[in-house]
Amino acid sequence: MAVPDKNDMKVNSIYFSCFSMEGEFLMEIDVQMILDWMKKTNEKMQENKSYLTSLDQPIGDGDHGINMARGFQEVENKVTKESYATPSDVLKDIAMTLMSKVGGASGPLFGTAFLKLSTAVKGSETVSYESFVNGIEQAVTGVKQRGKAEAGEKTMIDVWFPISEALRENEAFSADVLVDTAKQAMENTKEMLATKGRAAYFKEKSQGHIDPGSASSFYLFEALSEVLKERA
Ligand code: ADP
Ligand code: MG
Repeated sequence: MAVPDKNDMKVNSIYFSCFSMEGEFLMEIDVQMILDWMKKTNEKMQENKSYLTSLDQPIGDGDHGINMARGFQEVENKVTKESYATPSDVLKDIAMTLMSKVGGASGPLFGTAFLKLSTAVKGSETVSYESFVNGIEQAVTGVKQRGKAEAGEKTMIDVWFPISEALRENEAFSADVLVDTAKQAMENTKEMLATKGRAAYFKEKSQGHIDPGSASSFYLFEALSEVLKERA
C-alpha cells in the first residue's frame, strides 16, 4: 500500500484529525478543542498558582498566580455555562472574561490577545492552521500595542512572539513545536532586563528571574499542545 504523503492527508484533514509522517497534526480547531484548551489551562494555573506568584515576588508585586488562577477559573465558569456556534464566539468570551475579571496588567493583555485571535478567526466553524497562525500574529500585534512593548523587554510577548514565529515556520500543528518553543522562550526571559511593566522598576535586579507572564503563557501553550496530542 502506498504511504500517503502530507498533501494527500491534508485533503482529508478538513474532517478528520490525523498524523502526518512528520508527526504534525493536520487538523482544524473546533469549539470543543478551545473548551478543552481552557479547561487544561485553568488546571495548570490552579496547580501553579503559588509558583507563578513566587515568580512575581522578586520582580513585581506577587499577585500573578492569584490573577491567573482567578481569571482562568472565571473563564472556565463562563465557557462551560454557554454554548457556542464558532471558535470565534468562545474566544471572545474568554477575552472579555480575562479583561473584566483580572485586576493586574496581565488581564487586559491576555484579554487583548484572545480578542484579536477571536476577530481573526471569525466566521467559520473550524479554524484552519493558516487562520490560527494569522490569529496568533494578530494577538502579538495587539499585545504589543496595548502594552507599548516589543519583543526582548522581558514580558509575555517574549513567549507569544516566538510562538507566532514557530507557527509561521511550520505548515501544520505540532504539539512538540508548541511546547518546546514556549518552554525555551520562557527560559530565555530569565536573563533579560525588564524595561516594561512593574519588573522595569527593578532594573538590573530583574535579571536572573523568569518573567511571570511568560511562565503563565508557557502553561497556556503547553495546555494547547496537550489538547492537540489528545486529538491526534
Ligand atoms: P501586574 O504587573 O499588574 O501586577 P501581573 O502580575 O498579573 O500584573 O502580570 C505581570 C506580567 O504582565 C508580567 O510578568 C509581564 O509578562 C506582563 N506585562 C506587564 N506589563 C506588560 C507590558 N507593558 N506589555 C506586555 N506584557 C506586560
Ligand atoms: Mg503582579
